[in-house]
Amino acid sequence: MRRAPGRLVLVGHPVAHSLSPALQNAALRYAGLPITYEAIDVRPDALEATVHRLVAARAAGNVTIPHKEAMARHCGRVDAVAERVSAVNTFRVADDDVLEGTNTDVGGFDALAREVGALRPAARVAVLGAGGSAAAVMTALERWSGATVALFNRTKPRAEALRARFPIVELVAATADEAVRDATVVVNATSLGLRADDPLPVRIESLRPEAAVLDLVYRPRETAWVRAARERKHAAVDGLCMLLEQGALAFEWWFGIAAPRDVMRQALRAAARE
Ligand code: NAP
Repeated sequence: MRRAPGRLVLVGHPVAHSLSPALQNAALRYAGLPITYEAIDVRPDALEATVHRLVAARAAGNVTIPHKEAMARHCGRVDAVAERVSAVNTFRVADDDVLEGTNTDVGGFDALAREVGALRPAARVAVLGAGGSAAAVMTALERWSGATVALFNRTKPRAEALRARFPIVELVAATADEAVRDATVVVNATSLGLRADDPLPVRIESLRPEAAVLDLVYRPRETAWVRAARERKHAAVDGLCMLLEQGALAFEWWFGIAAPRDVMRQALRAAARE
């Protein structure tokens, strides 16, 4: 049996807004585990020293913006998923004292797709955005049977760099409209939608009628893009579902027991409303 973590943390900058403490602490209380999950704000120049302290404390936890790629470099061992994404969002200290990392955003994205029945063979997927989370999306998509990707990003060289890493990308589109033209699944992996006055990542009118809409972004009462998609009868889901599943998979990786997803979902919804 694995040794229990000495601390459980979320490392990010900023982290005050994060819903993960509400999600994880509800699960810990329900499971009767005597530990609290705490968010710690770590500036990039303090990450290395923090990692040393966390390893000494046998901590486990999550990593969020902007540290996921750097954390992968600090880990002594990463699994195949984290290696493919080149980013770690979940870590623990193994029994041989090695810092290990994985990436549960990939499984979180699959859950988002399952929620709206989008995880189907031969999906034609438009991905908008080419940042860290888009790499997790690509890693998930290349495990789907026969999926192909049309990619659009505001900064084209970043999209080209992602295509060089992921052969599943068939097209780097010049516009978001072009990327979604033939898509059966459309994914927003940009940060557009975080603010109420953000423009939509792509016009809903450009989507095929049967396209499923997956938004990695979440807001207290769904995102404007998801709302607009539902008004036009698209199956659509926002990023809360992904946040829940990446947290549930992390909990299971740390503790080796089933995550209480219903309890976590309720805590997440309550925290999001606040
Ligand atoms: P990131 O690495 O900073 O990438 C941000 C992406 O958004 C880039 O493609 C960037 O394009 C694009 N972007 C930013 N502002 C834009 C604008 N005004 N117009 C068009 N494109 C814009 O961030 P990330 O880690 O990929 O995260 C992206 C979003 O996913 C975040 O909002 C995050 O909250 C969300 N997310 C959610 C979950 C979840 O569990 N639900 C997990 C991970 C991430 P450029 O390259 O042109 O700058």
